Amino acid sequence: MKNKKDLRAEIMAVGSELLTPHFQDTNSLYLTQRLNELGMGISFKTIVGDDWDDLTLCIKEALSRANFLIAIGGLGPTRDDITREAFAQVLHRKLLFKEEILQKIEERFNCRGFKMPAVNKKQAYVIEGAEVLENRNGTAPGLWLEERSKIIILLPGPPQELKPMFERSVWPLLQKLRTEYTAHSVLKSTGLTESKIESLISKLYPKVPSLKLTTLAYPGQIEIHISARSKKSQDEAEKNLNKLKKTILQKLQDYVFSTSGEELEDVVGKLLRINKKNLAVAESCTGGFLAHRLTNVPGSSDYFIQGVVAYSNKAKTNLLDVPPDLIKKHGAVSLEVAQVMAIGVRRKAHSNLGVAITGIAGPTGGTQEKPVGLVYVALAWEEGSEVSKNLFLGKREAIKFQSSQKALDMARRHLLKIKI
Ligand code: AMP
Ligand code: MG
Repeated sequence: MKNKKDLRAEIMAVGSELLTPHFQDTNSLYLTQRLNELGMGISFKTIVGDDWDDLTLCIKEALSRANFLIAIGGLGPTRDDITREAFAQVLHRKLLFKEEILQKIEERFNCRGFKMPAVNKKQAYVIEGAEVLENRNGTAPGLWLEERSKIIILLPGPPQELKPMFERSVWPLLQKLRTEYTAHSVLKSTGLTESKIESLISKLYPKVPSLKLTTLAYPGQIEIHISARSKKSQDEAEKNLNKLKKTILQKLQDYVFSTSGEELEDVVGKLLRINKKNLAVAESCTGGFLAHRLTNVPGSSDYFIQGVVAYSNKAKTNLLDVPPDLIKKHGAVSLEVAQVMAIGVRRKAHSNLGVAITGIAGPTGGTQEKPVGLVYVALAWEEGSEVSKNLFLGKREAIKFQSSQKALDMARRHLLKIKI
C-alpha cells in the first residue's frame, strides 16, 4: 500500500471444521478487535475449508482485493494442513527447508520425553522471502510475507498459540500501520436490571463518533462497554474514556463491581485478601458452582476454606447441622434454612464468612407458593447474618449463575461495608 490510509484488510480462517456447526472462528474476532485498536477496519472475513482448490481460489480472490491479509490455521503437521503450501503456489514462491526450525520442533518433543513424529517435518518449511514468527506454545511457526506492497501474515489456528504469537511478534510490527489510538473499558455491574441501567445512563450516550457506549445484558450481569478513539495520542483517548467512565460510575455507583475486566469472583477474592478474611460456602441448588467460581481464581486457597454441596435434606442436617424440624416447618427452600446453612458452614469451617444458597433451579419442582427461580441466599459473619429472597428468571443454568452472582455480591457488599 502506498499510504496507510489505503489499507484494505482481510482475515481468512482456514479449516473445514469451521464450516460445521460445531466449531466457531473465534480467532478472527480477537484479531479484529486488536486491528480495530490500530484504526484498521476489516473489509472481508472469509472461512474456507481444507481443500486445495477452494483455498487457492480464496487466496487469489483475497489478494485481488486486499493489501493486508491475515490467514489463520492450516499450518499444522497433518495432511489437511495446506495453508503454507497453498500460499507458496499462489505467490509463485518456493518452500525452503530450515534446519533451525526443525531443531526447535524436535526440542519441543524431546523435552517432554517424546521423539518428533515424521509428519512434523513439514512445519520446518518456510515460504521463500518470509520472516518466521516464533511459536513458543506449539510447533507451527507463523510467517510474515510482503508481496508487492501487500502484507500477508500466516498464523496457527489454536487460540493459545495464535494470541501470544500475535502479541509478541505481530503487534510490534503493526505499529507502523497505526492511524489512531484507542482506549477501551468494560464496566461490569450486578443488582440492577437492564432497563434501570438504561434509564440511569440514557443521557450519557456520547454524541461524538470518537466515543462509543454499548450495553450488554446477561442474566445477573450487565456490562457497559465504552471506547474512545483519538487521531492524536493514546493519552487523549484515555483521557476521554476516563471522563465518560467517571460520569457512568457516578450514576451506577457501587452496582459496578469492576472496570478492568475482573469477574465478580476475582473482586471478592481481592477484598477477602485485603481484609484478611476467609470464607466457606454451603450450596444446594447451585451444586458447587459457587465454589467452582471462587476456586477458578489463582491463589484462592489464601481465603477459600471449603465448599459443602448439601443437596438433600439429610445432607443439610448431617453436614451443616440444619435441624430436621426447621426443614419440615419451612421447607428446604426457605429463608430460615438458608440462614442456618450459612451459620452452619461458617461454624464448621471456622471461617470469617459463611455463604449459603438454597433454591429451585427448575425446570421442575416449582409450586405456586415456591416457583422455579425462587432462591434464598444467605451470608453469615461473626456478629450477624443476612438473607436475601430472589426470584430469578431463565433456565436452570441461568438461575444457578444468578444465584452464585448474588452470593458473591452479598460478600462483596459486606466486605466493602455497603448495604447488601
Ligand atoms: P490448525 O492450525 O488448522 O491445525 O488448527 C488447529 C485447531 O485450532 C483447530 O482444530 C481448531 O480447534 C483451532 N482453530 C483453527 N482455526 C481457528 C479459528 N479461526 N478460531 C478458533 N479456533 C481455531
Ligand atoms: Mg486445520
